[in-house]
Amino acid sequence: MLIAAPEVRIPSKEAVERAVRDLEQRLGPSKVDVTEATRETYAVVFAAGRDDIKAALEICQQHDVPVTPRAAGTGRTGGAVPAAGGIVLATHGMSNLVEIDKNDLIAVVQPGVITGDLHAAALAEGLFYPPDPQSWKTCMIGGNVAENAGGPRAFKYGVTREYVLGLEVALMGGRIFRTGKRTVKGVTGYDVTSLLVGSEGTLGVFTEITLKLVHAPTEIATVMALYPDVRIAAAAVERTIAKGLVPRCLELMDAQTLEAIRRQGVAIDPRAGALLLSEVDGRNAPIDPLLNVLADTLDAGSISITAEKDAAKREQLWAARSTLSIATRKLTKYKLSEDVVVPRSRLVELLDQAARICEGEKVRHLTYGHAGDGNMHVNFLWNDEGERPAVDRAIDGLMRATVALGGTLSGEHGIGITKAAYLGLEQAPDFIKLQQDVKKAFDPSGLLNPGKIFPTGHGAC
Ligand SMILES: Cc1cc2nc3c(=O)[nH]c(=O)nc-3n(C[C@H](O)[C@H](O)[C@H](O)COP(=O)(O)OP(=O)(O)OC[C@H]3O[C@@H](n4cnc5c(N)ncnc54)[C@H](O)[C@@H]3O)c2cc1C
Repeated sequence: MLIAAPEVRIPSKEAVERAVRDLEQRLGPSKVDVTEATRETYAVVFAAGRDDIKAALEICQQHDVPVTPRAAGTGRTGGAVPAAGGIVLATHGMSNLVEIDKNDLIAVVQPGVITGDLHAAALAEGLFYPPDPQSWKTCMIGGNVAENAGGPRAFKYGVTREYVLGLEVALMGGRIFRTGKRTVKGVTGYDVTSLLVGSEGTLGVFTEITLKLVHAPTEIATVMALYPDVRIAAAAVERTIAKGLVPRCLELMDAQTLEAIRRQGVAIDPRAGALLLSEVDGRNAPIDPLLNVLADTLDAGSISITAEKDAAKREQLWAARSTLSIATRKLTKYKLSEDVVVPRSRLVELLDQAARICEGEKVRHLTYGHAGDGNMHVNFLWNDEGERPAVDRAIDGLMRATVALGGTLSGEHGIGITKAAYLGLEQAPDFIKLQQDVKKAFDPSGLLNPGKIFPTGHGAC
């Protein structure tokens, strides 16, 4: 099996007990959880502020105990799983929206702020924080920054990295730095902020995050296009991009995904074997010209096109996309969602390859995702443990096919534990070593979130 527990150094029980004792003394017992259920594997520190994080990183370094930062735990690649035990550093208690500056278009937040709460707070000021991972109701900004989260709107607005101006970050051992800036431009020193974005909790723990906001769009329209099959829908995506149109999102769902959604009670034309959901927006300017060209472009080969501007009706068009996670989760006992990206011109080839690989291994799959970015979530579904080796072979095949198509292993979920074994498929050994050296500069003892990103021996490619 390729996705096995990473080979990591487990701290001694005594070392963890000593760290827990010091943490309880410094932070107070209410911030340290060592319940029966977790005692054998890890303890949890509930950070209420920067000083708690600093203390946890100081004490754990002293006692040689690993630390795993955690936000909402919605990550898809096991980033917040304490692979080596030790201490889980929970940041959900740090949920203050410190500042929204309407003049400079900036938000300063603690890492435990829920992404949807930032959306709402910005909107209340007429502003907009575009990144919208589809877990936005529960996931947190700290986790979004650590994973460089994307979402449907990335097609027009880009991913989290484009909005992170500066970070306050605590390193293993307790040193605290400020990286980046509050200004729009700035090239002082290395761009350490960009390095930390997407570092999956392996370089430092964010204690405060400075984000760029934009003015909120004044008009939005949603377009839903139904097609008989996914290749025709993918061709519509390619046409849209080739024409230079920039809708704010371009989401694709295949026939198996639509079937799962229908079972959830969402009515979708039975003739449809694929669905494209797209949106255009604009500020203080009519969006109709763009909407009309988009609808025309999506029309070829479609069964139907529906466009809505009214907020409630737009939400109805989003119903299929919104129920997607629950709908697909109910299909089988086990589901693994992969997150590969290919150049947008090779989307059809990726879909064909995924189907071919899964047919060959007799593994059930469905595909949906951010087609405008070439970022597809291929979901593998199975019921019986005995099917697992075939699923692993299919995932391996998908990773190899993705790289062969000029793509990349992850668009937004990160590498974490689940993809570490595949890193060598995409990156040269020397380049992996360079990144491990960077990790050593931040965390010489390797105690921060060990077992993530880099292959650790088990089945590594
Ligand atoms: C239904 C569903 C839909 C999703 N849709 C999308 C999507 O559209 N786009 C997308 O990009 N992702 C999506 N995801 C994946 C996930 O929500 C994102 O990766 C999200 O950014 C994780 O945030 P979190 O708060 O849950 O972080 P966690 O899972 O708690 O942690 C993620 C990583 O961040 C690190 N971390 C957490 N806090 C800090 C901190 N303060 N400092 C440093 N490191 C830290 C952790 O160690 C871990 O490595 C989806 C997940 C689900 C369940």
